[in-house]
Amino acid sequence: MKFAEIIGQEASKKRLIKSVKDNRISHAQLFLSSEGSGALPLAIAYAQYISCENKQENDSCGICKSCIKYQKLVHPDLHFVFPIVKTTKKSICDNYLIEWRDFFMKQSYFSLQQWLENIEADNKQGLIYSEESNEILKKLSFKTFESDYKIMIIWLPEKMHTTGANKLLKILEEPYDKTIFLLVAEDVGQMLQTIISRTQLIKIPTISKEDVNEFLVQKIQLDKTTALNLAILSEGNIVTALKLINSTEEINVNFQLFVKIMRLTYTRNIAEINQFTEEISKRGRERQKSFLTYSIQMLRNNFILNQKTGQEIPLTSDETDFSKKFNVFISSNNIASINEEFSKAYYHIERNGNSRFIFLDLALKLTKLLKQN
Ligand SMILES: [Zn+2]
Repeated sequence: MKFAEIIGQEASKKRLIKSVKDNRISHAQLFLSSEGSGALPLAIAYAQYISCENKQENDSCGICKSCIKYQKLVHPDLHFVFPIVKTTKKSICDNYLIEWRDFFMKQSYFSLQQWLENIEADNKQGLIYSEESNEILKKLSFKTFESDYKIMIIWLPEKMHTTGANKLLKILEEPYDKTIFLLVAEDVGQMLQTIISRTQLIKIPTISKEDVNEFLVQKIQLDKTTALNLAILSEGNIVTALKLINSTEEINVNFQLFVKIMRLTYTRNIAEINQFTEEISKRGRERQKSFLTYSIQMLRNNFILNQKTGQEIPLTSDETDFSKKFNVFISSNNIASINEEFSKAYYHIERNGNSRFIFLDLALKLTKLLKQN
């Protein structure tokens, strides 16, 4: 990972680059940040820069032998420690190394919860078990293979078992030749004070609103208004910003489906209604429920519009355009019955009813109800 791929954090990047140029790389550094600030990718970019064979002014070259291996996280002198869930077959981080690399390549900004879901931890707590400290010692006993430095990145050292943490403390107390420890923590309150005092503390701030906004516009290609909204809502946490995009997309999909079902049922286009119910029955049950909940809200909002009370309604611009014309079909004559049909559909979907029949039944009821306005 190059520094160029890191979102924002210009001051931290400069400081890290300077430590390399001044040849003052501390052997144990503690990157402290909150979730979604990118401390882990930053530590990896720093490690790649340290090992790069052709360092550029402000970044690693990205093309030397070392960088190529670093970019796939397969460099033999780069080691990782991170929380895992112990199973009969897997008890140390190296057992999860393939999953770890794949996961990081897909999305370098992630939370502990997302990582644990990825390894199917089933609500178990992720920990760094005491066995891991023996692994660390074993790796430290190797000579470096290809680089000047061996780099050990420990993600979330606060999740370390006490015995392991005490062993790590001993390791940090006696610097190993040409070995750098980068600890990436989110909660130092859970760490041994003695470990903290053995490290050089590097505070990584949350990402600025401007940098989150720029990332959302340029890399994710969101429109400017949505990007700015999400940049404000996510409060400098990229993990949150990415989650919010998914929910925005879900709203858009639900809106398209809502427009479609209303148009098809009003025009009583039976062939297309059939096609529609087949299409929607292929979406997962959670998404079908999400669509029904969304529809109930949209119907309620259109009823409020229909009543002309002047009450402010939270609608996106697409929803507003559509609702201007649509609200005439949702009046006090049919809102209760339509609402009941959607709620009934939700009830049956939740109880694993046949979703195709449920949606077909709902659509056929709508063909009548929409005309009873
Ligand atoms: Zn390089």
